[in-house]
Amino acid sequence: MNRSYLESFLPPSRLLLGPGPSPVAPEVLMAMAGPTIGHLDPAFIGLMSEIKTMLQLAFGTTNDVTFAVAGPGSLGMDACVLNLIEPGDKILIARNGVFGTRMCEVALRGGAQVIPLDFTWGTPIDPQAIEDALKEHKDIKFVGFVHAETSTGVQSDAAAIAAIAQKYGALTIMDAVTSLAGIPIKLDEWGIDAVYSGSQKCLSCPPGLSPVSFSPRAVEHVKHRKSRVLSWFLDITQVMSYWGGDKARAYHHTAPVNSLYALHESLRRLHVEGIEASIARHRAAHLQLAEGLTALGLELLVDEPFRLPQLNAIKIPSTINDAPLRASLLNDFNIEIGAGLGPLAGKIWRVGLMGEGARPQHVSRLLQTLDNAMENQRNEAISLAS
Ligand SMILES: *Cc1c(COP(=O)(O)O)cnc(C)c1O
Repeated sequence: MNRSYLESFLPPSRLLLGPGPSPVAPEVLMAMAGPTIGHLDPAFIGLMSEIKTMLQLAFGTTNDVTFAVAGPGSLGMDACVLNLIEPGDKILIARNGVFGTRMCEVALRGGAQVIPLDFTWGTPIDPQAIEDALKEHKDIKFVGFVHAETSTGVQSDAAAIAAIAQKYGALTIMDAVTSLAGIPIKLDEWGIDAVYSGSQKCLSCPPGLSPVSFSPRAVEHVKHRKSRVLSWFLDITQVMSYWGGDKARAYHHTAPVNSLYALHESLRRLHVEGIEASIARHRAAHLQLAEGLTALGLELLVDEPFRLPQLNAIKIPSTINDAPLRASLLNDFNIEIGAGLGPLAGKIWRVGLMGEGARPQHVSRLLQTLDNAMENQRNEAISLAS
């Protein structure tokens, strides 16, 4: 560790099987290394249009306001929530993990009246409970929820939640950071009004970009706000002068040029494979993992129908010491997995099989390594005791 900052940084070669970032394909890294060009260069504007088209296809939408926020998934969360809510507005937010909790925090800071709806971590959102809350509070304007809870490995029924919200005239905000390209997303069919995702989960792109999309209904809502959007940078009515369709593009901010090369390449790879094929690959990797875990005597936290293929919450056996095992995986075997958070800290490991991570050879390597690392730890415990 005796490095001088005058030496170039050479990252270690890790297999990223945690909650993100996921492994990035060499083609995507190479795309990123292309020469930087001006962000209003006609060639770059062509690239932005193609990214928009590929994002629309990935989200299952024709929404014109579809683009990549220049920031991580959390900034996409800010973009969706802060464009829609005004101070005093009532928003119902389902909390069944870290990210629903974060959405409440964003809405509170925006001055909204937040009605949180809690579910046990590790279980999905119950659409009936959403309906009951909407019946009880007549003036709820928005329903926010997380499609794929990365902190617990649970998926919720987005179609059912969106249908209920529509029945009661509320706009929906969906966190699709981990779901995009890993499980099906059909924004238009489901009637989702605002969605944000992230580049570094199932898209297998470096972190730092957040694909977002707003329905025409959401855009109308933003145009008729009484107050201005709290964030100048995230105000979609401004950003769209830059990302917008055929109209002349006006300077808004300097796009992260090389990061968008990477996003373009990762989306191109997704569409060459096909969304359905990508989703099937995630599922196959998950089933391979689940079977291998059973053989090792390990169990998953989440009930089968609600399991996320791309994020597997594994119960840590009582005989195993969590932190040293994860440290051994990283330091001795170059594999990163995630720790449990909040009430699940020390109780679960989070194994992400996202994007390029969802490949049979990576699942085999993890299962083999986990077996070895657990065996090593048990042997050490025995030799210490004797
Ligand atoms: C990772 C994640 C986020 C936050 O994304 P960042 O890029 O870390 O800001 C939000 N929601 C979910 C469900 C996530 O998995």
